[in-house]
Amino acid sequence: MYWEKDIETINRDDLKKLQSERIKKTMVQAKKTSYYRDLFQEQHIDPDTIQTPEDLRMIPPTTKENLRSGFPFGFLATSLDEVVRLHSSSGTTGTPTVIYHTAEDLVNWTNLLARSLYMVGMRKSDTFQNMMSYGLFTGGLGMHYGGEKIGALVIPIGAGNSKRQIWFLKNFKTTVIHIIPSYALLLSNLIKNEDLDPKKDLNLRIILLGAEPHSEETRKRVEELYGAKAFNSYGLSEMNGPGVAFECPFQNGSHLWEDAYVLEILNPKTMEPCAPGELGEIVLTSIDRKATPIIRYQTKDLAYLIDGPCPCGRTHSRISRIQGRTDDMFIYHGVNIFPIQVEKVLMNNPEVGSNYRIVLERQDYRDTMKVEVEIKSELFFGELQKLERLRERIQAELRSETLVTPEVALLEPETLPTSEGKAQRVFDNRQL
Ligand code: ADP
Ligand code: ZN
Repeated sequence: MYWEKDIETINRDDLKKLQSERIKKTMVQAKKTSYYRDLFQEQHIDPDTIQTPEDLRMIPPTTKENLRSGFPFGFLATSLDEVVRLHSSSGTTGTPTVIYHTAEDLVNWTNLLARSLYMVGMRKSDTFQNMMSYGLFTGGLGMHYGGEKIGALVIPIGAGNSKRQIWFLKNFKTTVIHIIPSYALLLSNLIKNEDLDPKKDLNLRIILLGAEPHSEETRKRVEELYGAKAFNSYGLSEMNGPGVAFECPFQNGSHLWEDAYVLEILNPKTMEPCAPGELGEIVLTSIDRKATPIIRYQTKDLAYLIDGPCPCGRTHSRISRIQGRTDDMFIYHGVNIFPIQVEKVLMNNPEVGSNYRIVLERQDYRDTMKVEVEIKSELFFGELQKLERLRERIQAELRSETLVTPEVALLEPETLPTSEGKAQRVFDNRQL
């Protein structure tokens, strides 16, 4: 049941000891980077006094902008000779951020993934089709090596090219896939277009959903479409990539691997710790990495801590699904709205198809919000009144979830633009 029972079920006191040991090692590494050396000096922090998770709070958080300002070597703590790989954000929207890995860093990361994959039931008898893009994006290579470590047959197919995906799914009787949730919804349509039933004609049993926010309703829908269990995989390139937090078979929150990361959930305004159940920003410190130590990284991802022991026996803290990012919330008529709230309502309606978007416009100083949603094609053959009732129902449900009343447009399948990568859901065309 466990990949590493001792570490997965470690008691919290021992976990804290282990974290403290690793924090000390991380400080030794941090001192070697020009960014943290300067920071410690400026802030009069003696890194040797940082020895426990609580002590970390003396260090100011690190932001994406800080990482960028350190390009290319500001966060590198080893010689380049020791580095065997780097991952980097694409750099199309500004200076890229770079994470360097020693061989040992990669072994540790791979182990976190093997642990996560084993936890959700993947075994060496599985065939694992990794539908994430290979290359600088961490979802490709990261998960790939985790699958190999377990001993599964890994198909490094990468993202996109749906016809080929389907061909492989069918011919190699793939049992596990790693896929972006919005693409999982689209792909099921394409599978049906090939006269295949994703439930009956494929052999999928485990679906790893990662890389973008998705609601519980979307997970349920994916599970029904494919007749397989779907698990939430959370990670970010600054913290290696996938393998930071992963859902266990109880599917009630994701265990954040605290032997590798120190977790804080902070109120984004006050930067004070949140109580369990209270939504805040995830802040992470890598404590099992040599080449690129990052202390108190502000992920911008919003989640809350789930209290109490997990029936699976793992003691690592559980976090909720990501409810949004501090930067993807939009304000409409003075109300703060996260796209995931809209998704939750839509995906709970069986009539709704697999794609939607939110369009915000401003006309004559008045804002409008329109939710455009694809619905199943058979509904367009029925009575018009029925469609209107559906539209009104969705609108009312959106109102009760978000407290605003958006326009709702029901569209035929495959009319909205699609993406094989992370989906863009909000189109804010308001000129401020
Ligand atoms: P980029 O920053 O270029 O999008 P990353 O792969 O580092 O590339 O993206 C990490 C971000 O993706 C996370 O900070 C989070 O916002 C989002 N993300 C990743 N996995 C999940 C998940 N399971 N649920 C919600 N959001 C996720
Ligand atoms: Zn659990």
